[in-house]
Amino acid sequence: MTPVPPISFNRSSLQGRELEYIFQTISAGQIAGDQTFSKKCHALLEDVLGVQKALVTTSCTHALEMAAILLDIQDGDEVIVPSFTFVSTPNAFVMRGARPVFCDVRPDTLNLDESKLEALITPRTKAIVPVHYAGVACEMDEILRIGAKHGVAVVEDNAHGLFGKYRGRWLGTLGCMATQSFHETKNITCGEGGALLINDSRFCERAEIIREKGTNRARFFRGQVDKYSWVDIGSSYVMSDVLAAFLYGQLEVWRQIQEKRRVIWGCYHQHLSEWCAQHDIRQPLVPAHCDQAYHMYYLLLPSLEVRTALIQHLKARGILAVFHYLPLHLSEYALRWGGRRGDCPVTENVSERLLRLPLFNSITEEQQHEVVEGVRSFAV
Ligand SMILES: *Cc1c(COP(=O)(O)O)cnc(C)c1O
Repeated sequence: MTPVPPISFNRSSLQGRELEYIFQTISAGQIAGDQTFSKKCHALLEDVLGVQKALVTTSCTHALEMAAILLDIQDGDEVIVPSFTFVSTPNAFVMRGARPVFCDVRPDTLNLDESKLEALITPRTKAIVPVHYAGVACEMDEILRIGAKHGVAVVEDNAHGLFGKYRGRWLGTLGCMATQSFHETKNITCGEGGALLINDSRFCERAEIIREKGTNRARFFRGQVDKYSWVDIGSSYVMSDVLAAFLYGQLEVWRQIQEKRRVIWGCYHQHLSEWCAQHDIRQPLVPAHCDQAYHMYYLLLPSLEVRTALIQHLKARGILAVFHYLPLHLSEYALRWGGRRGDCPVTENVSERLLRLPLFNSITEEQQHEVVEGVRSFAV
């Protein structure tokens, strides 16, 4: 028997004219930031989503750091984040001196539980940072209502949700700002990269300055000032145009990419539904008012033991399935804020039971069916 090549959990691939565009940037001798392809990425995101301003950055983490600076986060401020997220969601604010306040997630969508949000607000709360987990929208009407009522900014960590919608509105356009990731593991990628989306024009000019090391270089390039100088704090958050060229090659075919992922997601969902129902395994839940971004396919298994066994079973068949976030409130670093088991029971529970199946733009139909067969041949 010829050995079947393993199916990785994620694998990036060319989706369009990435290489041609990279060659163009290099041939033009313009590989620093904010050249032709960065501008094309900005224009595409602004046009499609209808945001005031889009700025590509070195990562989503850096876009979150920019948001924290723009909101003037200071020592002692509090920022509410879901406990079930990536470390950067709170860390970008913690770097400015904030204390993270962890909110539990809803058992259905695994998104920040808006019914538990208001109780966590104090006079020190400066921001709420919901994450659209797996690309399925949070209950933004309620989160925005609570934010507005208490004068607290809402920043969407939209790393999973680009081109998803909530009640017909694009994710990333609902908070005063939103952050995107173009890391290799995301739907659309350039290896490492991100973007800050700005929906409140008050932040536009300062965002350009913070992104350019605290200088007004962007205004200088537009001829609005005759020299540029140091005007604020900031850092080096500008993406190289080589990466922006790769990114634009993917962004311009975003519809095809999302369509491919919709089909893959649908294949898993359909072909695993009977098996899941028989074994009391929960499939992802997408509310009718959410157009999801097809970032991820996960299963919620009955227990940690079953999940561990299924990971092993799939691994033996050459399929890499992986778990996801560990509860942040119980992480080594967060214990300084007194996190305890039981603070976010849903996060603690799902974190042990969730398994993500391979989902990437170039996974073949045959591989998808191998994954389905791999799961269905597991004796729960
Ligand atoms: C991937 C991810 C990030 C970080 O993205 P980078 O571009 O790697 O900095 C932040 N938040 C969430 C929810 C993510 O999934």
